[in-house]
Amino acid sequence: MSALPRILVIATGGTIAGLAPSPAEPGVYAAGVVDAPALLAAVPALGELAELRAEQLFALDSSDLGPAHWIALACRVRLALSDPELDAVVVTHGTDTLEESAYFLQLAVDTVKPVVMTAAMRPANALSADGPANLYDAVSLATAPGSASHGVLVTLGGTIFHAVGLRKLHTGRLDAFAGDRRGPAGSTNGPELFRPPPAQRALVDPAALTELPMVEILHVAAGSSPALLEAALQAGARGLVLALPGNGTVPQAWRGPIARATAAGIPVMRASRCGSGAVGRHPDDAALGTLAVGDLPASQARVALMLALARQQPALLRQLLAAP
Ligand code: ASP
Repeated sequence: MSALPRILVIATGGTIAGLAPSPAEPGVYAAGVVDAPALLAAVPALGELAELRAEQLFALDSSDLGPAHWIALACRVRLALSDPELDAVVVTHGTDTLEESAYFLQLAVDTVKPVVMTAAMRPANALSADGPANLYDAVSLATAPGSASHGVLVTLGGTIFHAVGLRKLHTGRLDAFAGDRRGPAGSTNGPELFRPPPAQRALVDPAALTELPMVEILHVAAGSSPALLEAALQAGARGLVLALPGNGTVPQAWRGPIARATAAGIPVMRASRCGSGAVGRHPDDAALGTLAVGDLPASQARVALMLALARQQPALLRQLLAAP
Protein backbone atom coordinates (compact mmCIF):
# COMPACT_ATOMS: atom_id res chain seq x y z
CA MET A 1 0.00 0.00 0.00
CA SER A 2 1.29 3.47 -0.91
CA ALA A 3 2.21 5.65 2.06
CA LEU A 4 2.22 8.74 -0.13
CA PRO A 5 -0.32 11.52 0.51
CA ARG A 6 -3.37 11.35 -1.77
CA ILE A 7 -4.04 14.53 -3.66
CA LEU A 8 -6.71 15.57 -6.13
CA VAL A 9 -5.51 18.02 -8.79
CA ILE A 10 -8.43 20.05 -10.16
CA ALA A 11 -7.62 21.78 -13.45
CA THR A 12 -9.56 24.84 -14.55
CA GLY A 13 -7.55 26.03 -17.59
CA GLY A 14 -5.29 29.07 -17.79
CA THR A 15 -1.84 29.56 -19.29
CA ILE A 16 -0.48 26.65 -17.28
CA ALA A 17 -2.58 24.55 -19.67
CA GLY A 18 -1.92 26.82 -22.67
CA LEU A 19 -0.28 26.00 -25.99
CA ALA A 20 1.49 28.49 -28.23
CA PRO A 21 1.67 27.93 -32.01
CA SER A 22 5.35 28.85 -31.74
CA PRO A 23 7.17 27.92 -28.51
CA ALA A 24 9.60 30.76 -29.19
CA GLU A 25 6.75 33.30 -29.03
CA PRO A 26 5.03 32.41 -25.77
CA GLY A 27 3.03 35.65 -25.68
CA VAL A 28 0.50 34.40 -28.24
CA TYR A 29 -1.26 31.19 -27.24
CA ALA A 30 -4.56 29.54 -26.40
CA ALA A 31 -5.20 29.05 -22.66
CA GLY A 32 -6.77 25.92 -21.16
CA VAL A 33 -5.91 23.47 -23.95
CA VAL A 34 -3.78 20.83 -22.19
CA ASP A 35 -5.99 18.54 -20.11
CA ALA A 36 -5.49 17.62 -16.46
CA PRO A 37 -3.93 14.14 -17.01
CA ALA A 38 -1.46 15.64 -19.52
CA LEU A 39 -0.48 18.38 -17.07
CA LEU A 40 0.46 15.73 -14.51
CA ALA A 41 2.16 13.49 -17.08
CA ALA A 42 4.47 16.37 -18.01
CA VAL A 43 5.99 16.28 -14.51
CA PRO A 44 6.94 12.62 -13.82
CA ALA A 45 8.65 13.58 -10.53
CA LEU A 46 5.21 14.29 -9.06
CA GLY A 47 4.78 10.53 -8.62
CA GLU A 48 7.48 10.60 -5.94
CA LEU A 49 5.60 13.21 -3.93
CA ALA A 50 2.04 11.97 -3.88
CA GLU A 51 -0.58 9.62 -5.22
CA LEU A 52 -2.38 11.93 -7.62
CA ARG A 53 -5.78 12.01 -9.23
CA ALA A 54 -6.51 14.51 -11.97
CA GLU A 55 -9.85 16.11 -12.72
CA GLN A 56 -10.84 18.67 -15.35
CA LEU A 57 -13.41 21.08 -13.92
CA PHE A 58 -13.15 23.86 -16.53
CA ALA A 59 -10.87 24.49 -19.51
CA LEU A 60 -11.04 28.27 -19.56
CA ASP A 61 -8.93 31.37 -19.67
CA SER A 62 -9.45 32.72 -16.15
CA SER A 63 -10.67 36.04 -17.56
CA ASP A 64 -13.79 34.05 -18.56
CA LEU A 65 -14.46 32.81 -15.03
CA GLY A 66 -17.06 34.46 -12.81
CA PRO A 67 -19.15 33.91 -9.69
CA ALA A 68 -20.88 30.77 -11.02
CA HIS A 69 -17.44 29.18 -11.60
CA TRP A 70 -16.19 30.23 -8.14
CA ILE A 71 -19.24 28.61 -6.57
CA ALA A 72 -18.82 25.37 -8.59
CA LEU A 73 -15.09 25.23 -7.75
CA ALA A 74 -15.71 25.79 -4.03
CA CYS A 75 -18.40 23.09 -3.96
CA ARG A 76 -16.04 20.64 -5.71
CA VAL A 77 -13.14 21.44 -3.38
CA ARG A 78 -15.34 21.04 -0.29
CA LEU A 79 -16.63 17.69 -1.51
CA ALA A 80 -13.08 16.48 -2.22
CA LEU A 81 -11.88 17.55 1.22
CA SER A 82 -14.72 15.71 2.91
CA ASP A 83 -13.44 12.48 1.29
CA PRO A 84 -11.36 10.55 3.87
CA GLU A 85 -9.44 9.06 0.92
CA LEU A 86 -8.01 12.49 0.02
CA ASP A 87 -5.39 14.41 2.00
CA ALA A 88 -5.21 17.67 0.03
CA VAL A 89 -6.40 19.49 -3.09
CA VAL A 90 -4.33 21.35 -5.69
CA VAL A 91 -6.09 23.67 -8.17
CA THR A 92 -4.48 24.80 -11.43
CA HIS A 93 -5.84 28.13 -12.66
CA GLY A 94 -5.16 31.11 -14.90
CA THR A 95 -3.19 33.95 -13.37
CA ASP A 96 -5.48 36.77 -14.53
CA THR A 97 -8.25 36.25 -11.97
CA LEU A 98 -6.45 33.92 -9.57
CA GLU A 99 -6.84 36.51 -6.81
CA GLU A 100 -10.64 36.42 -7.05
CA SER A 101 -10.97 32.62 -7.13
CA ALA A 102 -8.40 32.14 -4.35
CA TYR A 103 -10.17 34.65 -2.11
CA PHE A 104 -13.61 33.16 -2.80
CA LEU A 105 -12.27 29.67 -1.96
CA GLN A 106 -10.75 31.03 1.23
CA LEU A 107 -14.18 32.32 2.29
CA ALA A 108 -16.08 29.22 1.23
CA VAL A 109 -13.86 26.28 2.23
CA ASP A 110 -13.28 25.48 5.89
CA THR A 111 -10.69 22.76 6.29
CA VAL A 112 -7.49 21.81 8.02
CA LYS A 113 -6.38 19.91 4.89
CA PRO A 114 -4.07 21.83 2.55
CA VAL A 115 -5.63 23.61 -0.44
CA VAL A 116 -3.01 24.95 -2.84
CA MET A 117 -3.57 26.87 -6.05
CA THR A 118 -1.02 27.37 -8.78
CA ALA A 119 -0.76 28.84 -12.27
CA ALA A 120 1.83 29.84 -14.84
CA MET A 121 2.86 32.91 -16.75
CA ARG A 122 4.08 30.97 -19.80
CA PRO A 123 2.21 28.35 -21.81
CA ALA A 124 2.97 24.66 -21.36
CA ASN A 125 5.06 24.41 -24.55
CA ALA A 126 7.09 27.63 -24.08
CA LEU A 127 10.85 27.14 -24.22
CA SER A 128 11.08 27.96 -20.53
CA ALA A 129 7.61 27.07 -19.27
CA ASP A 130 7.10 27.82 -15.57
CA GLY A 131 4.02 25.60 -15.17
CA PRO A 132 5.80 22.27 -14.47
CA ALA A 133 7.93 23.72 -11.65
CA ASN A 134 4.94 25.60 -10.21
CA LEU A 135 2.83 22.43 -10.26
CA TYR A 136 5.64 20.49 -8.60
CA ASP A 137 5.91 23.19 -5.92
CA ALA A 138 2.13 23.19 -5.39
CA VAL A 139 1.99 19.42 -4.89
CA SER A 140 5.05 19.54 -2.65
CA LEU A 141 3.41 22.30 -0.57
CA ALA A 142 0.18 20.31 -0.38
CA THR A 143 2.08 17.36 1.10
CA ALA A 144 3.92 19.47 3.71
CA PRO A 145 2.52 19.03 7.25
CA GLY A 146 3.07 22.76 7.89
CA SER A 147 0.52 23.64 5.19
CA ALA A 148 -2.39 22.33 7.27
CA SER A 149 -4.83 24.96 8.56
CA HIS A 150 -3.36 27.73 6.41
CA GLY A 151 -6.56 28.12 4.38
CA VAL A 152 -5.95 28.58 0.68
CA LEU A 153 -2.28 28.85 -0.29
CA VAL A 154 -1.07 30.01 -3.70
CA THR A 155 2.36 29.29 -5.10
CA LEU A 156 4.09 30.63 -8.22
CA GLY A 157 7.70 31.36 -9.07
CA GLY A 158 9.04 29.87 -5.84
CA THR A 159 6.95 32.09 -3.56
CA ILE A 160 3.98 31.12 -1.41
CA PHE A 161 1.08 33.50 -0.70
CA HIS A 162 -2.02 33.41 1.44
CA ALA A 163 -5.15 33.95 -0.63
CA VAL A 164 -6.21 37.04 1.31
CA GLY A 165 -4.50 40.11 -0.11
CA LEU A 166 -3.08 38.28 -3.16
CA ARG A 167 -2.72 40.45 -6.28
CA LYS A 168 -1.28 40.07 -9.75
CA LEU A 169 1.03 43.04 -10.19
CA HIS A 170 2.84 42.34 -13.44
CA THR A 171 1.63 41.41 -16.91
CA GLY A 172 4.58 39.27 -17.89
CA ARG A 173 7.13 38.53 -15.18
CA LEU A 174 7.32 35.00 -13.77
CA ASP A 175 7.08 36.49 -10.26
CA ALA A 176 3.96 38.44 -11.18
CA PHE A 177 2.23 38.20 -7.78
CA ALA A 178 2.46 39.92 -4.43
CA GLY A 179 0.73 39.50 -1.10
CA ASP A 180 -0.61 42.28 1.07
CA ARG A 181 1.66 44.69 2.95
CA ARG A 182 2.80 41.88 5.23
CA GLY A 183 4.40 40.22 2.18
CA PRO A 184 4.43 36.61 1.02
CA ALA A 185 3.51 33.68 3.27
CA GLY A 186 6.62 31.68 2.51
CA SER A 187 9.06 30.20 0.08
CA THR A 188 8.97 26.86 -1.72
CA ASN A 189 12.46 26.03 -0.45
CA GLY A 190 11.55 23.40 2.03
CA PRO A 191 8.71 24.48 1.59
CA GLU A 192 8.76 26.96 4.41
CA LEU A 193 5.84 29.08 5.65
CA PHE A 194 7.10 32.04 7.62
CA ARG A 195 3.77 33.74 8.29
CA PRO A 196 1.15 32.35 10.68
CA PRO A 197 -2.13 31.06 9.23
CA PRO A 198 -4.66 33.82 8.48
CA ALA A 199 -7.28 34.44 11.15
CA GLN A 200 -9.98 34.50 8.47
CA ARG A 201 -12.26 31.46 8.58
CA ALA A 202 -14.68 30.28 5.92
CA LEU A 203 -17.89 32.25 6.25
CA VAL A 204 -20.17 31.07 3.46
CA ASP A 205 -21.55 27.78 2.27
CA PRO A 206 -21.18 27.82 -1.53
CA ALA A 207 -23.90 25.19 -1.88
CA ALA A 208 -26.38 27.81 -0.65
CA LEU A 209 -25.42 30.18 -3.50
CA THR A 210 -26.31 30.09 -7.18
CA GLU A 211 -25.15 33.48 -8.44
CA LEU A 212 -23.83 36.60 -6.75
CA PRO A 213 -25.22 40.14 -6.88
CA MET A 214 -23.67 42.48 -9.44
CA VAL A 215 -20.87 44.60 -8.00
CA GLU A 216 -18.62 46.64 -10.28
CA ILE A 217 -15.16 48.13 -9.83
CA LEU A 218 -14.89 51.64 -11.26
CA HIS A 219 -11.42 52.91 -12.14
CA VAL A 220 -11.32 56.61 -11.26
CA ALA A 221 -8.74 58.49 -13.38
CA ALA A 222 -7.83 62.19 -13.21
CA GLY A 223 -10.93 64.02 -14.43
CA SER A 224 -13.08 60.84 -14.68
CA SER A 225 -16.77 61.61 -14.88
CA PRO A 226 -19.01 60.38 -12.05
CA ALA A 227 -21.42 59.49 -14.86
CA LEU A 228 -19.55 56.16 -14.65
CA LEU A 229 -21.12 55.60 -11.24
CA GLU A 230 -24.63 56.46 -12.48
CA ALA A 231 -24.14 54.15 -15.49
CA ALA A 232 -23.10 51.24 -13.28
CA LEU A 233 -26.14 51.69 -11.06
CA GLN A 234 -28.44 51.95 -14.06
CA ALA A 235 -26.94 48.72 -15.40
CA GLY A 236 -28.02 47.01 -12.18
CA ALA A 237 -24.99 47.17 -9.87
CA ARG A 238 -26.03 46.55 -6.27
CA GLY A 239 -22.71 47.74 -4.90
CA LEU A 240 -19.57 49.53 -6.09
CA VAL A 241 -15.85 49.38 -5.43
CA LEU A 242 -14.05 52.54 -6.46
CA ALA A 243 -10.42 52.10 -7.53
CA LEU A 244 -9.53 55.64 -6.51
CA PRO A 245 -6.32 57.60 -6.97
CA GLY A 246 -3.59 57.14 -4.36
CA ASN A 247 -4.67 55.93 -0.95
CA GLY A 248 -8.35 56.15 -1.83
CA THR A 249 -8.82 59.86 -2.39
CA VAL A 250 -12.34 60.85 -3.49
CA PRO A 251 -12.34 63.59 -6.17
CA GLN A 252 -14.66 66.53 -5.40
CA ALA A 253 -16.84 65.81 -8.45
CA TRP A 254 -17.60 62.31 -7.13
CA ARG A 255 -18.63 63.31 -3.61
CA GLY A 256 -22.27 64.16 -4.37
CA PRO A 257 -23.00 61.08 -6.51
CA ILE A 258 -21.31 58.81 -3.96
CA ALA A 259 -23.24 60.30 -1.04
CA ARG A 260 -26.52 59.94 -2.96
CA ALA A 261 -25.74 56.30 -3.80
CA THR A 262 -24.90 55.33 -0.21
CA ALA A 263 -27.97 57.21 1.09
CA ALA A 264 -30.03 55.09 -1.30
CA GLY A 265 -28.58 51.94 0.28
CA ILE A 266 -25.87 51.14 -2.31
CA PRO A 267 -22.65 50.10 -0.54
CA VAL A 268 -19.64 51.98 -1.95
CA MET A 269 -16.11 50.88 -1.06
CA ARG A 270 -12.98 53.00 -1.29
CA ALA A 271 -10.09 51.04 -2.83
CA SER A 272 -6.97 52.20 -4.64
CA ARG A 273 -5.96 52.08 -8.26
CA CYS A 274 -2.33 51.69 -7.05
CA GLY A 275 -1.25 48.08 -7.37
CA SER A 276 -0.18 47.77 -3.76
CA GLY A 277 -0.69 49.33 -0.35
CA ALA A 278 -3.69 49.58 1.95
CA VAL A 279 -6.61 52.05 2.02
CA GLY A 280 -7.37 52.96 5.60
CA ARG A 281 -10.36 54.69 7.17
CA HIS A 282 -10.78 58.40 6.49
CA PRO A 283 -13.23 61.07 7.74
CA ASP A 284 -14.74 60.93 4.22
CA ASP A 285 -16.17 57.53 5.12
CA ALA A 286 -18.43 59.09 7.76
CA ALA A 287 -19.29 62.02 5.48
CA LEU A 288 -20.01 59.98 2.35
CA GLY A 289 -21.11 56.64 3.79
CA THR A 290 -18.19 54.77 2.18
CA LEU A 291 -16.17 51.87 3.53
CA ALA A 292 -12.36 51.60 3.20
CA VAL A 293 -11.08 48.26 1.87
CA GLY A 294 -8.06 48.07 4.18
CA ASP A 295 -5.53 45.54 2.90
CA LEU A 296 -7.74 43.98 0.24
CA PRO A 297 -7.12 44.74 -3.44
CA ALA A 298 -10.20 46.09 -5.24
CA SER A 299 -10.74 42.68 -6.90
CA GLN A 300 -11.08 40.93 -3.53
CA ALA A 301 -13.09 43.76 -1.93
CA ARG A 302 -15.59 43.22 -4.76
CA VAL A 303 -15.85 39.50 -3.90
CA ALA A 304 -16.35 40.37 -0.22
CA LEU A 305 -19.09 42.84 -1.10
CA MET A 306 -20.81 40.38 -3.43
CA LEU A 307 -20.90 37.79 -0.64
CA ALA A 308 -22.13 40.28 1.95
CA LEU A 309 -24.93 41.35 -0.41
CA ALA A 310 -25.80 37.73 -1.25
CA ARG A 311 -26.04 36.93 2.44
CA GLN A 312 -27.83 40.24 3.15
CA GLN A 313 -25.33 40.77 5.96
CA PRO A 314 -23.60 44.15 6.04
CA ALA A 315 -21.86 42.96 9.24
CA LEU A 316 -20.16 40.22 7.21
CA LEU A 317 -18.40 42.88 5.16
CA ARG A 318 -17.01 44.61 8.26
CA GLN A 319 -15.86 41.23 9.55
CA LEU A 320 -14.05 40.52 6.26
CA LEU A 321 -12.38 43.92 6.22
CA ALA A 322 -11.30 43.61 9.84
CA ALA A 323 -9.58 40.25 9.31
CA PRO A 324 -5.77 40.52 9.31
N1 ASP B 1 -5.13 34.70 -19.59
C1 ASP B 1 -4.53 33.64 -18.81
C2 ASP B 1 -5.54 33.20 -17.77
O1 ASP B 1 -5.72 33.88 -16.81
C3 ASP B 1 -3.30 34.15 -18.17
C4 ASP B 1 -2.55 33.16 -17.33
O2 ASP B 1 -3.02 32.11 -16.93
O3 ASP B 1 -1.37 33.47 -17.01
O4 ASP B 1 -6.16 32.19 -17.93
